[in-house]
Amino acid sequence: MSARKSLTILGATGSVGQSTLDLAMRNPDAFEIVALTAHCDVEGLADAARKTRAKQAVIGNVDRKAALEEALAGSGVAVSAGAEAICDAAGAGADLVMAAIVGAAGIRPVMAAIEAGSTIALANKESLVSAGSLMTEAARKKGVTILPVDSEHNAIFQCFDHDRPEGISSIILTASGGPFREWTREQMRSVTPERAVQHPNWSMGAKISIDSATLMNKGLELIEAKHLFGLPAEDFRIVVHRQSVIHSLVEYRDGSVLAQLGSPDMRIPIAHILAWPDRMETPCERLNLAEIGRLDFEEPDTERFPALALARAAMEAGGARPAILNAANEEAVAAFLAGRIGFLDIAMIVEAVLDVYDPGSPQQLDDIFAIDGAARAYAQDLMEKQAA
Ligand code: NAD
Ligand code: MG
Repeated sequence: MSARKSLTILGATGSVGQSTLDLAMRNPDAFEIVALTAHCDVEGLADAARKTRAKQAVIGNVDRKAALEEALAGSGVAVSAGAEAICDAAGAGADLVMAAIVGAAGIRPVMAAIEAGSTIALANKESLVSAGSLMTEAARKKGVTILPVDSEHNAIFQCFDHDRPEGISSIILTASGGPFREWTREQMRSVTPERAVQHPNWSMGAKISIDSATLMNKGLELIEAKHLFGLPAEDFRIVVHRQSVIHSLVEYRDGSVLAQLGSPDMRIPIAHILAWPDRMETPCERLNLAEIGRLDFEEPDTERFPALALARAAMEAGGARPAILNAANEEAVAAFLAGRIGFLDIAMIVEAVLDVYDPGSPQQLDDIFAIDGAARAYAQDLMEKQAA
């Protein structure tokens, strides 16, 4: 790889954050760690900061600041705390900022990194779903590149002819189908959070694991893809491919279809983005197609997985709809993980919030936060009424 890059990792203690750290630590000459951030995992953050000799560690939860200071005493790592401090670290101008916070909580830090002119390695799909138009516009104005880490979008990015996009006719996102691919609605009714987080192919954070089980993840990815690749909504298709070997495909006008393949290990797309435009070594398992033997494909079932249809409708309608969809989903997923609502209630709550709340299009970031907040309040209200 060429020159050493300065790297900040937002959400360093999470699944994507840890995979990023693993690759950075295997290549200490290639990356200089500027800042690492986390929400409340002091131990994980302090450990990562010491190992990488990060300049700065930021904990979102201010009540954990003293614990972080204690954990990093004598290490030379500067400590700060709070949501503002995360934005400051994000906006400190690293060459590359890995956006791996989960949820709309990542919007402000990503915007701060864009404003600072850093290249964005984007895993935090919710920020793009919620604030996509404003975010891509800010990036365009600043001349900032947003590089997709999400495996599907990374695959598309690798197959996409960026110089001649007019030759592309459609984009096909693959979906594993999640842990309940073959289940009936009746079987899904009594699913527990413990069962729902067990993904057949990928090991991920709790929220995205639940999204993968409802297929909301694929719905969020549709909206994410629309912002990143800009084709008309109807040119984005989804195919269920249970082995998660083909990560997505790009179809050209002449009928050629390009795909990116690899083992289901997030370190592969993360490495692609860390090294981009070069390539780097990874310890990831190599693809053995003869051993895999066969690849299967099927149409997604929007009757058993209504979240997918809700997300597609939100993508087509645009405006405030994706932000509402995302906020209601975040609240519903958190409630499901806390045992407050059932698995099938997640999509039901999202649909109900979209039914009752229909504000005008957001024009600025504060509009997004207002819409996000109101959608969350509607979701909480509906869940309380349901519980009563
Ligand atoms: P995770 O739950 O494992 O980690 C989330 C990270 O964000 C943690 O470091 C946590 O401390 C931090 N965080 C959480 N809430 C925060 C807040 N309010 N303020 C500041 N920091 C906060 O999540 P993950 O699975 O690593 O996913 C991260 C993002 O990447 C998500 O948007 C997810 O959709 C996306 N993504 C993940 C994977 C994967 O394999 N895990 C794949 C593709 C995309
Ligand atoms: Mg994905």
